[in-house]
Amino acid sequence: MQHFDYVIIGGGAAGASVAYELSRLASVALIEREMGPGYHSTGRSAAVISENYGPMGWQALVTASRPFFENPPPGFADHPLLRRIGALYLATPEEEAALAASSHDLDRRNVDHRLLPASEAPTFCPVVRTDGFSLALLEPGCADIDAHALLQGYLKLARGQGLSVRLSTEAISLERRGGRWHLAASGTSLTATSVVNAAGAWADKVATRAGIRPKGLQPYRRTAITFDPPAGTDVRTWPMTFDMAETWYFKPEAGRIMASPVDKTATEPCDAAPDEFDIAVAIDRIERATTMSVPRVHSKWAGLRTFAADEQPVIGSDPDEPSFIWLAGQGGNGVMGAPAAAQLAAAIATGTNLPDFVTSRGVDLATISPGRFHGSKGQSGWFQPAPAPP
Ligand SMILES: Cc1cc2nc3c(=O)[nH]c(=O)nc-3n(C[C@H](O)[C@H](O)[C@H](O)COP(=O)(O)OP(=O)(O)OC[C@H]3O[C@@H](n4cnc5c(N)ncnc54)[C@H](O)[C@@H]3O)c2cc1C
Repeated sequence: MQHFDYVIIGGGAAGASVAYELSRLASVALIEREMGPGYHSTGRSAAVISENYGPMGWQALVTASRPFFENPPPGFADHPLLRRIGALYLATPEEEAALAASSHDLDRRNVDHRLLPASEAPTFCPVVRTDGFSLALLEPGCADIDAHALLQGYLKLARGQGLSVRLSTEAISLERRGGRWHLAASGTSLTATSVVNAAGAWADKVATRAGIRPKGLQPYRRTAITFDPPAGTDVRTWPMTFDMAETWYFKPEAGRIMASPVDKTATEPCDAAPDEFDIAVAIDRIERATTMSVPRVHSKWAGLRTFAADEQPVIGSDPDEPSFIWLAGQGGNGVMGAPAAAQLAAAIATGTNLPDFVTSRGVDLATISPGRFHGSKGQSGWFQPAPAPP
């Protein structure tokens, strides 16, 4: 039976990025149940990077990820991974204090942005209605990510470093015996010194199969539509525009508009499909928030965003079994935060030096530790390093 230092479960942004980081140092297999990588959440995201989006643990990782997107390793992709579009966040008078606090934190992380009266928002996004809003935050560096190039770049370089990718292969049972993991997957079986759980919406299910306590990770469905902008409008210069209350967002996408009602419907892990009601809500909210009408939906889809109860990342060794490493709870930041999250997970998994951004970018290990759900502080995998690869 083939033995690897690490087996990674899941071939989305999380699994591919950590496969690249680990395969630089060790022998690695990546197991993905679907026929291709990125079929679930990673292939269904809005694929933007905004350093003002999501819980603080993720925002710190996103800022730490930006240098990778701007300067990926040689041979990663034949074109830039980012295309700047900018972001505009709109706040009501009651939300002004929260937006000002976000601005303060962006200052701390040296993220270019400025606060402006909401009445100036149409200068950047001519269709947005500003009634009810008083303050706006403009983040010029928000960018579209080429998520396909990101995924394929990671896998290409990782394969070059010896990564074994097994597609159409579901990890069915994982048993720790004799100091190694015995993994039975559809069509194959293998052993590994450590397991990395990058199974997205299925992360708790994979843990349960491995006899590891689940962390309360909950998948939520989110819906997206695209439609044509008003005739004769060039939308290419519009920023991605959000309301702070998170009831809608929209952005230009390949000459059309992509929009979401920012829904968050709890669901079992599944192949998510859009619900007609959520699509109707999306259309209604966009027509109220802007001067646009949506006579016809061009495309529609849904995907899952998976959160821990505190919405912070779940990265690190399991407190009960340090050779089981979590890279989960990506929520709405799993593409934009993948590079730094993977570097951190790989450092914890291998017991090597933590990346500089952990201290310089204010990434708090206690906040993201899987041990926090069971009353244990800090990173057990870091303070008691996981077994070194043979
Ligand atoms: C509408 C929408 C918009 C979004 N917009 C953004 C955005 O703009 N920017 C951003 O950063 N994020 C965004 N997100 C969130 C982002 O998509 C996720 O955070 C990210 O894709 C999670 O990646 P992942 O690798 O953890 O999960 P996934 O991509 O779902 O990968 C997990 C993989 O594990 C596999 N798997 C599960 N169980 C097993 C098993 N037992 N054996 C083998 N394989 C298994 C699955 O088949 C799956 O392919 C958005 C999400 C949605 C739905």
